[in-house]
Amino acid sequence: MNIPLSNPDITLLERQAVMSVLQTSSLSLGPKLPEFEKSITRYVGTKYAVAVNSGTSALHLIVRALGIGPGDEVITTPFSFVSSANCILYERAKPVFVDIEPDTLNIDPDLIEAKINRKTKAILAVDVFGHPAQWGALQRIARKYRLKLIEDSCEALGAEWRKKKAGVFADAAAFAFYPNKQMTTGEGGVIVTNNRVLADLCVSMRNQGRSKGGQWLQHERLGYNYRLSDINCALGIAQMKRLGEILRKRAIVASQYNELLQDIEEIEVPFVAPDVEISWFVYVIRLKEEYGIMHRDRILQFLKKSGISCSNYFSPPIHLQPFYRQTFGYKRGAFPVTESISDRTIALPFYSNLKKQQIIAVARMLRKGIRAVQ
Ligand SMILES: *Cc1c(COP(=O)(O)O)cnc(C)c1O
Repeated sequence: MNIPLSNPDITLLERQAVMSVLQTSSLSLGPKLPEFEKSITRYVGTKYAVAVNSGTSALHLIVRALGIGPGDEVITTPFSFVSSANCILYERAKPVFVDIEPDTLNIDPDLIEAKINRKTKAILAVDVFGHPAQWGALQRIARKYRLKLIEDSCEALGAEWRKKKAGVFADAAAFAFYPNKQMTTGEGGVIVTNNRVLADLCVSMRNQGRSKGGQWLQHERLGYNYRLSDINCALGIAQMKRLGEILRKRAIVASQYNELLQDIEEIEVPFVAPDVEISWFVYVIRLKEEYGIMHRDRILQFLKKSGISCSNYFSPPIHLQPFYRQTFGYKRGAFPVTESISDRTIALPFYSNLKKQQIIAVARMLRKGIRAVQ
């Protein structure tokens, strides 16, 4: 048995789309870039989309375009992929972590106000594992303290909170298209926003600080090469055409897992809030509170030895990553909910084309693994 953790869903449509770009001379900054961006704005419902070469680049440009800089503080979650905090450090601002809710695993709005001071400039919330954060509460806090709001939706394309799509709740949002995400461009990301000034700044900064309609060697501001090639964009356009189908298939896999796993006493299956339409990015179960990191890691070992790829998303959490420990002196105990959850999560193989027989096999081995480590 050999079941990977994730697997992109690529068909003939995607292969033909990429091949057709290779038959033109526009491999970058060609017609596929605006076409891809248009497919994103149409789907998410924002006015603007700026495609870039990764989700991390998207987050960096948002932070920079919002004017966040040295001495500023940005409130964010420690239970995320490292780039949602790194993008704050790129601009010499300070990530101020706030613990998470034990059910949604997203930043806990009730703990935010205690961390706000004169240096606080923004809140960067993550829709972790495709489950939208508490956007109503976050928007109220941002309005009350005049803070910018950033949505890291890199794991949540297609998710909904109160019938609105993830990506529309903040001043700007980022999506990512690495091959393990719901859809892929190989590498890639996009900024979505309704703010034209912010979108224009991002367009300029992704392309070496050039201005719209300006000359090729005219650089108005500090910029980067964060461009997404037309080859990647063509792949993205084809994936966007199939996104509905891909998300439906992922939801079916998740419900099959739920059905097969929900009676296992030692674990909890993923939580979905009643006002949320989750976009399934990963399928992460957690061991109940009486278990710890030793049990979890031994179950991971057991599954891997049986040919089932699995992972410990997100363990360690960001504040306990070596770089953050060294730089900020964080120790265990700083964010108890995050740490407790991080110790007990298991991400099971999850992708749109996972077969029922494979799901059954994973469920069987998980039961066996849990029994083996008691
Ligand atoms: C994937 C991801 C990103 C960005 O990833 P890239 O690999 O740079 O595209 C950012 N934040 C979160 C939470 C992610 O899962």
